[in-house]
Amino acid sequence: MPGGKTHDTINIAVLIIILAGIFYLIMGNLSEMAARYLDIYTISVLSLSYIFATFFLSPDLDIESKPYKRWKMFRILWWPYKVIFKHRGLSHNPIIGPLSIVINLALIVALLLLFMGVELHQGHSRYIIAATTGMILSMEIHIISDFLISKMKNLF
Ligand SMILES: [Zn+2]
Repeated sequence: MPGGKTHDTINIAVLIIILAGIFYLIMGNLSEMAARYLDIYTISVLSLSYIFATFFLSPDLDIESKPYKRWKMFRILWWPYKVIFKHRGLSHNPIIGPLSIVINLALIVALLLLFMGVELHQGHSRYIIAATTGMILSMEIHIISDFLISKMKNLF
C-alpha cells in the first residue's frame, strides 16, 4: 500500500488534472452546466476542501498515519474513528469510508458552529455541497490509488 507521501503526491496531481479539465470546459464554453455551477468561488471552495482532505481527512485516519498525526492535539477528535474502523476495512470502502469521515467531520463542525453561535442559511448550501464534493473526491482518489497499487503489486 502506498505511503502517506505517495498518496499526497497522487492526490495533488489528480487535482491539477481535474482543475485543468474544469477550466478547459469553461474556457471552451463546452458545457453550459459547468459554467453555470462552477464560478471561481465554488471552484476555490472545492479545491481547498480537496487539499484539506488530502492532508487531514484521509481514509488512513484509521491508523497512526500522517493525516492522523497532522491533527496534533486535536487528533482526539478522530480517536473514536480509529478505534471503530479496522485499517483498510470499512474506512476504505468507496461508499462507507468517505461517508463516515464526512459525517464525523460534520458533527465536529456542527458542534463548533453551535458553540460559536453561527447559523447556517440557504445561501451556504452551494458551498457546503462544493466542500463536501471536494473532500469526497480526495478520499475516493486515495481509495482508488490503494486499490490499484495493491493490484499492481500482486502482478509482480
Ligand atoms: Zn489507505
